[in-house]
Amino acid sequence: MKTFEELGVSEEIRRAIEELGFEHPMPVQEEVIPYLLGNGNDVIALAQTGTGKTAAFGIPLLERTDPTNRSTQAVVISPTRELCLQIADDLKSFAKYIKGINIVAVYGGTSIIDQIHALKHGAQIIVATPGRLIDLMHRGAAKVQEVRNVVLDEADEMLNMGFSDSINEIFDNVPADRNTLLFSATMSKDIERIALNYLHDHKEIVVGSRNEGAENVNHIYYMVNAKDKYLALKRIVDFYPRIYGIIFCRTKAETQEVADKLIRDGYNAEPLHGDLSQQQRDITMQKFRQHITQLLVATDVAARGLDVDDLTHVINYGMPGDTESYTHRSGRTGRAGKKGTSISIIHTKERGRVREVERTIGKEFVDGTLPTPQEICSKQLFKAIDEIEKVDVDEDQIAPFMEDINRHFEYFDKEDILKRIVSLEFGKFLKYYANAPEIVKPSTQRDRKDRNEGRDGRKREKRAPESGYRRLFINLGKDDGFYPGEVMQFINRNVHGRQDVGHI
Ligand code: AMP
Repeated sequence: MKTFEELGVSEEIRRAIEELGFEHPMPVQEEVIPYLLGNGNDVIALAQTGTGKTAAFGIPLLERTDPTNRSTQAVVISPTRELCLQIADDLKSFAKYIKGINIVAVYGGTSIIDQIHALKHGAQIIVATPGRLIDLMHRGAAKVQEVRNVVLDEADEMLNMGFSDSINEIFDNVPADRNTLLFSATMSKDIERIALNYLHDHKEIVVGSRNEGAENVNHIYYMVNAKDKYLALKRIVDFYPRIYGIIFCRTKAETQEVADKLIRDGYNAEPLHGDLSQQQRDITMQKFRQHITQLLVATDVAARGLDVDDLTHVINYGMPGDTESYTHRSGRTGRAGKKGTSISIIHTKERGRVREVERTIGKEFVDGTLPTPQEICSKQLFKAIDEIEKVDVDEDQIAPFMEDINRHFEYFDKEDILKRIVSLEFGKFLKYYANAPEIVKPSTQRDRKDRNEGRDGRKREKRAPESGYRRLFINLGKDDGFYPGEVMQFINRNVHGRQDVGHI
């Protein structure tokens, strides 16, 4: 493993990033940093958020910036205001020990006058959304004639958002002998076109395989009838009392509707979509980042700028329209060495989409069976007990109230009090699930066939092993994080030689 020093990173920046806890370069940094430190070197990097890409382009940008020259030397273009702010913040922290570097973020949806003022003081690095940068260029506030580095971040997303013309216009106005770095989660025809028009002899790097779902993510689908979709969502959320996740919907209207229902049903949820004001979206994202909100119901686009590393679950309320969106969504969980789960609530017609995704990511989805009311109630009970056990009791603070407390509970015995305390949180689940509507798993034609017939088409004894195989039972399962992959790992670790394992 190389060091940042070996990659050619200067002492000032090394000091700053060490303080941020960067010990060794991440793979994208190892490839991109030394290359971009040279001149006239273009790169296309297929890398998603979380791979360390900001430092990969940010560090060489800073190295190549002359702090004594006030003119704009680099522009970073990114699709959303949130990303701009995040990138600018990161760059500022990498530049902590370099004197005289001014980094300014400019984006739409807010006063242009303040941004013009900010640029007047001279910004060597501008981080911008495409439309606003063009606007500022037209007004003469952003001057890009001396730019030596252009970075397009989340290029695929910018093209999806219709920024193609703005991007062309920016490229047409910066000097030809610049470095261009294009980051994208996916490679498409449009990206290839930009590369052809504006990049010279570029190096292409892929960070992780874009066809690979994150190692730490388990993929599950629950198939339900359309009318049961929301009920299924509730069950899933109830079954994971400590869930911290994003529920992705396809449209703004659906996002709002699902969030409204969850809020009405007493969940700690909030919507995030483009019909909300920028201010509302900022507040919502802030609350979610701080774990004040437990469930964020969002559209793909609105959730773009949100970077959180510790999601336990991503829930697809219906399969997304394309595989790229699926991998993007599911890649938001299972980060930073943690396990994550990507759950899809689908109807029978979407099974084909699941198969498509399976082929692309090279991983099978688990065909999930929704947790039963009883399983959910046990989970919730366990959580309620756990919370009571973990309560921090401040003896001194509570002492003055103890006399009153004792008097009130004089006639309750211990069991009575326990029942009441546990019911405070847990009671609503018992009540709901006592009469919860049944959710019937729709059976597909193939299910019906599988259930009745063996591979040879003959009627098969229910649950009988295939010939030559023996059936083994393991008292662990999905709920314990013990998926087929774990079963295989366990077997391989403990049994030497080749093993034939049939259906798990
Ligand atoms: P990004 O893909 O740029 O959003 O980065 C993902 C996260 O990784 C951010 O929180 C960075 O601060 C962090 N990070 C980037 N490079 C390194 C590194 N070399 N060592 C440790 N953490 C890093």
